[in-house]
Amino acid sequence: MSLVVQKFGGTSVADAQKILAAASKAVARHKAGDQVVVVVSAMGHQTDVLVDLAKQINQRPSAREMDMLLSTGEQVSVALFAMAIQSLGVEAVSLTGAQIGIRTDSTHTKARIKSISTDNVKHNLNEGRIVIAAGFQGIDQCGNITTLGRGGSDTTAVALAAVLAADVCEIYTDVDGIYTTDPRLLPEARRLASIAYDEMLELASLGAGVMHPRSIEFAKKFGVKVHVRSSFKDVPGTLILPAEQTTPRPVSGVALAKNEARITLEGVPDQPGSSHRVFSQLASSGIAVDMIVQNVGQHGRADISFTVPADDLAAALEVTTSVAQQLGAEGVSHDGSLAKVSVVGVGMAREEGVAGHLFSALSRKGINVRMITTSEIKISVLIHRDDAAAAVQAAHRAFGLEAEAMGGGADGSAAALPKSSPLDVVRRLEGMEDLAVEDVTLDSSQALVTFTDLPDKPGVAADVFEEVGRAKLFVDMIVQSHPRGGKAELSFTVPSSDRERAIDVSGRIATSLGAIVVDVPHVAKLSITGVGIRSHAGMADRLFAPLTEAGINIDLVSTSEVRLNVIVAAKHGEKSLHILRRAFGL
Ligand code: ASP
Ligand code: MG
Repeated sequence: MSLVVQKFGGTSVADAQKILAAASKAVARHKAGDQVVVVVSAMGHQTDVLVDLAKQINQRPSAREMDMLLSTGEQVSVALFAMAIQSLGVEAVSLTGAQIGIRTDSTHTKARIKSISTDNVKHNLNEGRIVIAAGFQGIDQCGNITTLGRGGSDTTAVALAAVLAADVCEIYTDVDGIYTTDPRLLPEARRLASIAYDEMLELASLGAGVMHPRSIEFAKKFGVKVHVRSSFKDVPGTLILPAEQTTPRPVSGVALAKNEARITLEGVPDQPGSSHRVFSQLASSGIAVDMIVQNVGQHGRADISFTVPADDLAAALEVTTSVAQQLGAEGVSHDGSLAKVSVVGVGMAREEGVAGHLFSALSRKGINVRMITTSEIKISVLIHRDDAAAAVQAAHRAFGLEAEAMGGGADGSAAALPKSSPLDVVRRLEGMEDLAVEDVTLDSSQALVTFTDLPDKPGVAADVFEEVGRAKLFVDMIVQSHPRGGKAELSFTVPSSDRERAIDVSGRIATSLGAIVVDVPHVAKLSITGVGIRSHAGMADRLFAPLTEAGINIDLVSTSEVRLNVIVAAKHGEKSLHILRRAFGL
């Protein structure tokens, strides 16, 4: 006997017919001898309808009353769902968040789960009932109804699967799985049989339409096996799993963030605290920063570039301009017409030449790369928005994603996850959704190579990394800053033992491109990994502040959804590690 959590989204319970169809899925599972917990969203677009209704009455409705209102959507659907199951001759009981005991903080409309009690659900399951749980809602410590933010039913489902130690959490939706890229953008996109949690998180912009990113963070933190599948078609869907259980590939998917804007603080005095000032003020203005690139800097001044959603450009510029004055920066520039293309794959961490391969594909299409950041499993490039579709296609084809057989069915192949002991779960449940910085690590084995005065034109990154790939150099971090005055700066790290070779190769490339190479034989790379790094505002703030206080200058930064890398001088490595471990309570 297994325990299964099945989640049905709004489109899957949009009318009576669909509720009955969904109910028969739960009943079939129950009849096969499994215990079944169903989590449902509000019917169809009911939540939007309620939001609209509120706005007609009050332009700025109180968050508490919004939660009171929005939670009714799910209360309707759980009751109807239970009736549907009963009509099929099986016992069922519907439960609200409060009746289950889903405790949250009091941040109305975007509450975070603190704990979930399993008693009521387990009791009902043991009595032979199917339990229908209202998604998206909980109660705070005063008994107020709260909601988890739009799309939050996914998080309810994964969280319930975690506390109940369910064998699988099935997410029934209107798409039939996770694709290598958005099929509406590129029809040759293919469905993936499986994908790793980290890949899914790094592909947030791809996955967002399918699953609430926070639910994936949860799944990763608690090792919940998630199965995304269609409500309407009988196809295998996609399993979301720990990396060790997925098919290793250098690249699994290509994601596009279409509306990006870049802001650069030019010529910031290169001293501790500059980054902290910028990013803490942006965070306190509620602006989420995505890519951050700080170049190596020359003559005591560095440029700090970052991207924000294009809609936030005006607000971000206002904050940045005032910080630039406080810091004595030379100026602020911006560009609101950009897009970010990312290739993601857990396999790229172990393979050489992935970067070169990507950059040459872009170069062949004449696409100019404006900024580059990487994580262990992701390479992101910033390009002009007009090049977005061509770039996605070029990247997708470069890694054969259109052709690759994605490994047949999703079922069967993956091994079962080890179940956590009940005690272990209880311990981890205290502060279920706290920012989980998994680890801070120090890598002192790398050398840093920087090209300055690279011409800002298509094909330059390709020239560099094709050569580097041919030399079989194992490149880890790559950062290209926003070009200024027609010149770009590009840095990468390689194992110190390869430094001589790296300089040799780089020197040759530099000569042919009219650029200059400088290198630092030993640097300290600190990596902060974990879940919630992107969804918790002010993460950069928490990183930069303690280093600033200790007077440690940050030489290079690169960011991704699940990882933040910083390079500091080798002599500060151990101390920085200590400071950051303490800052994150490790
Ligand atoms: N009904 C809520 C919403 O529309 C929660 C969900 O569907 O996941 O956002
Ligand atoms: Mg949804």
